[in-house]
Amino acid sequence: MPSILSVPGAPGQTAKAEPADVRRNNRALIFGLLFPDTELSRAQIGRRTGLSRVAVSDVVGGMLDEGLIREGGLAHNTGKGKRGTLLGVDPERLHVISIDLSQSHFIQGAITNLLGVIVERAELSLGAANAITIEDIAELAERLMARAGGVIGVGVAAPGVVADGIVRRSTVLGWQDVDLRGPLEQRLGVPVSVDNDATSGMLAERCFGQGGPNLLFVWMRRGIGTAVLINDVPVMGENNAGGEIGHISIDPQGPECPCGKRGCLERLIAAPTLGERLREHPESRGRILGQAGLHLAEALAMPVGMLDISDVCVYGPPDIINTDLIAAAQRHLDETTMSSFRTRTGIRRCQLGGDIALRGETIAVLRDHLHRV
Ligand SMILES: [Zn+2]
Repeated sequence: MPSILSVPGAPGQTAKAEPADVRRNNRALIFGLLFPDTELSRAQIGRRTGLSRVAVSDVVGGMLDEGLIREGGLAHNTGKGKRGTLLGVDPERLHVISIDLSQSHFIQGAITNLLGVIVERAELSLGAANAITIEDIAELAERLMARAGGVIGVGVAAPGVVADGIVRRSTVLGWQDVDLRGPLEQRLGVPVSVDNDATSGMLAERCFGQGGPNLLFVWMRRGIGTAVLINDVPVMGENNAGGEIGHISIDPQGPECPCGKRGCLERLIAAPTLGERLREHPESRGRILGQAGLHLAEALAMPVGMLDISDVCVYGPPDIINTDLIAAAQRHLDETTMSSFRTRTGIRRCQLGGDIALRGETIAVLRDHLHRV
């Protein structure tokens, strides 16, 4: 029951405190208790949440009508009165359309159910220029929407800084201030959530992977970014650029980067760069990946120490994020951050597969939906 679902607002938004929001917050709280596969009676929900019977009935009734939850069997008899009907998440009726812009050469899309299970897929190949247009995204989303019932929203995972549905800056996509949410909502007629791809990966790792409520998540695909989760609240930063470590220069004498600086982390260890170097020097595989792990740990040592996070999870291509890289990163983190007053920070490879961003968008859309009227 990840409480990340009950935290009000989309990542980056602050909690509202108006009385009208109480019902929405209760809805998210109850759904979060049941997600993904817990079954509870109304009375059990009341005991767990501290909400009154009337409040639970009201919120549960609304969610049953809407298709978010369904009634199942009967609760075990505890000897106190009649047995209550069990409630659980309904994985059948409602769907999310997820779109992933973080891969090279194609856009990946899927229909998922509320539990992040992929029901159907579609892809759109990109031309030789590898460029993505809003038209491409809309077309793919429309194709999927035509085949899905009960769509509660569309989620788009994009590399770069994303704020209020707008991709503020993406060196990977070559975009600046591209409004995705506005045009997509107008055309598709459903709410659209746009999220940084690392944030999306982090949401998936928290809800479907091994991640706990405190997590530093590293994302290595076309670009490199991180997402931070503290007490189940995604930390987005003042300009929604929290975790954007890809363009921090760690080698001033290093190769030039499209951002204008030299030796940026992304320029040194992004997956395409490493892949190219491994193809050119297959004999130096261990050394190249060890060096990449060292650079990664150099960049992470400070946030790890500052935030006191003991779990670092790295997602990326399995031939790159392997034992060589992880072991080198762990060694350097141990050398630079271990002390008697904090627990050891473990760095590990993310076990979720290529659908991670698609499944993360299920959660992003659900979070938005639960806090909407
Ligand atoms: Zn750069």
